[in-house]
Amino acid sequence: MSIEIESDKRAQHLLQTIFGYEQFRDQQETVVSHLINGEDALVLMPTGGGKSLCYQIPALVRDGVGIVVSPLIALMQDQVDALRQNGVNAAYLNSTLSLDEVREVEQALYNGDLQILYVAPERLMIPRTLEMLSQLPIALFAIDEAHCVSQWGHDFRPEYIKLSVLHERFPQVPRIALTATADAPTRKEIVERLGLQQARQFISSFDRPNIQYRVSESSGNARERLLRFIRNEYDGEAGIVYCLSRKRVDEIAKWLSSKGLTALPYHAGLPAQERQNNQKRFLREEGVVMVATIAFGMGIDKPDVRFVAHLNLPKSLEAYYQETGRAGRDSQPATAWMVYGLQDVITLRQMQANTDAPEEIKRIESHKLDAMLGFCELTRCRRQALLEYFGEQQPEPCGNCDTCLQPPETWDASVAAQKALSCVYRSGQRFGVGYLTDVLLGKEIDRIQQFGHDKLSTFGIGKELNQTQWKDLYRQLIAHGLLAVDMEGHGGLKLTEASRPVLRGEQTLMLRKLTKAAAGKSKERQSSRYNNKVDDALWQALRKRRQELSDEQGIPAYMIFHDATMMEMVANRPQTLQQMSNISGVGESKREAYGEAFLEVIAEYPDSGGEEPSDSAEETLQLYRIGMSAEKIAEQRSLKLTTIYSHLAKAIAEGQAELSEVVCLDDTELQAIRFTIEQEESKRLKPVYEALDAAYSYEILRCVKADMYKEG
Ligand code: ADP
Ligand code: ZN
Repeated sequence: MSIEIESDKRAQHLLQTIFGYEQFRDQQETVVSHLINGEDALVLMPTGGGKSLCYQIPALVRDGVGIVVSPLIALMQDQVDALRQNGVNAAYLNSTLSLDEVREVEQALYNGDLQILYVAPERLMIPRTLEMLSQLPIALFAIDEAHCVSQWGHDFRPEYIKLSVLHERFPQVPRIALTATADAPTRKEIVERLGLQQARQFISSFDRPNIQYRVSESSGNARERLLRFIRNEYDGEAGIVYCLSRKRVDEIAKWLSSKGLTALPYHAGLPAQERQNNQKRFLREEGVVMVATIAFGMGIDKPDVRFVAHLNLPKSLEAYYQETGRAGRDSQPATAWMVYGLQDVITLRQMQANTDAPEEIKRIESHKLDAMLGFCELTRCRRQALLEYFGEQQPEPCGNCDTCLQPPETWDASVAAQKALSCVYRSGQRFGVGYLTDVLLGKEIDRIQQFGHDKLSTFGIGKELNQTQWKDLYRQLIAHGLLAVDMEGHGGLKLTEASRPVLRGEQTLMLRKLTKAAAGKSKERQSSRYNNKVDDALWQALRKRRQELSDEQGIPAYMIFHDATMMEMVANRPQTLQQMSNISGVGESKREAYGEAFLEVIAEYPDSGGEEPSDSAEETLQLYRIGMSAEKIAEQRSLKLTTIYSHLAKAIAEGQAELSEVVCLDDTELQAIRFTIEQEESKRLKPVYEALDAAYSYEILRCVKADMYKEG
């Protein structure tokens, strides 16, 4: 056996025994094997994509200690704790350690006891550290958050530029740079500044399929809508609520708390101690809602943040993607929820116009804001639009955003827009939305009479719409750039070049219809994860046990087990330690430490028989039986197509569905697939998939295999 195959096997083995995962995800396997072979890599993967394993496993396979450079000092402790939970010997070096603690880590390094060392860049660069490392066997250098070398990004760290030294001083040691920043200019900068011209680039899709994108208009009732959203869909779960100002953060946190939620504020104006404390509670306790300005979030890698809510519009789609990306790192369903209204649009336009930035920058920022506003007013799939903005094409609408789930109605607003624009023009291009609306509605108000605007041809010509509808129309006109907001900050509106064709009736304008607040109810998720009592009780009991164990050790609950791992326990009800190790996320170390404790809990809640329609696979099968296609079921249930096929495969294996109904293959194809599956001894489908030159999807292969090994 060649060395390469042997070390790939070892990587696979470590994945299962240390981390408790069955399979590598997408690119992980190739990256890992590339690094094990001693080559350099640049990895671009979205948040939650699984970057850590890309360097942790090679660090364990290769001789010597793996050095991980990270700018996020506050999180090193957590990263190290998480590794130790899995039985890995890890430590960190940064300015928070005492001299004695530093000595202890150094001693462990010299003794060859450490497998992974996290180090802050400024600490790595001091001669003492470099000198020490040059005397030790080094497995690899991982440069996390590699976009910090970019001088144009907001996370720029000067020390990161010096990291190019690593290449010169340790030419034999492979380096891997990782980032979740997608854009090409940053990528180019990373390559140049870190001397990674020879490195192979691994670029993943930046889609976050488990995040459901939702945007809706607010008409002054944002916080009530937020509360209802949390209560209805994520009661007792963790989430982040972003607000623009510190004042609003304090106010919303207080209000949510008064309604019985655990909501904590976070912004730069709070005393450092309180801020830290709140962050800690958010990480360690279950179900904390963090109400924050954008000062919060960089490097927060809590995997089970179930929602990110925006009560104000972010200033660009880049910011929106990054902020919403903090939801659902564990790949479980999560929601990016946003309300925005007329005032948001006006405020952002004004803020932008009033900065002292050079014209060039202003222009770029203005484009970015336009893109953000355009995103809010979309009538097509939001995910497709978001990914397109980052240069990625997705051929099909996603089925997991509000516009896919509930296509917005549009209406021909050309005539109404003409009236609205004309009213702006005739009243002298200096009044705000409230006043303009009153004129359109023909209100007998002193102010209007003083200005003589009751004599205007637009006075009272808009009675077919009500006040809210006119406001909604004005918001969309501003968002689409047909009206500009005055610089002085009074909210006065002016026509723009773009408005002329509409005003002259040369352009049709299709706009979103205002959604009724009550609409969409039926599409909301259910708050509890299970609509079956026994499963729900077991889930709550597992959470409780997890919290007790994490309190004992003073570590975040998710470090014991992720939600996904516990959900698998609920679904499979393992009875023995052996069965426990088959659960994804249960490695050897955690099985020893916690296996018994969780088995005890599970034993108290025996399986109720799996008859309930709450059984996800059962529900799929029912829909399938009434004639829905797999695609349609995936859409309706907001599940991935892969999940639906795995349900169907299960049904095939249990003899409840026919292979020939589920997949469309002719006999020759079927034979070829069967033959290949038989040839491959390993349980995994990947070799089969590859042997067939990727001609058949994993979904198809899974179903064929299920048919071959079906019961009876
Ligand atoms: P990133 O650093 O890219 O944001 P992480 O490395 O933190 O992502 O991984 C995100 C989540 O996915 C973690 O909870 C991790 O345990 C999980 N994960 C990573 N790789 C796998 C895998 N091969 N199988 C199952 N879960 C995985
Ligand atoms: Zn969509």
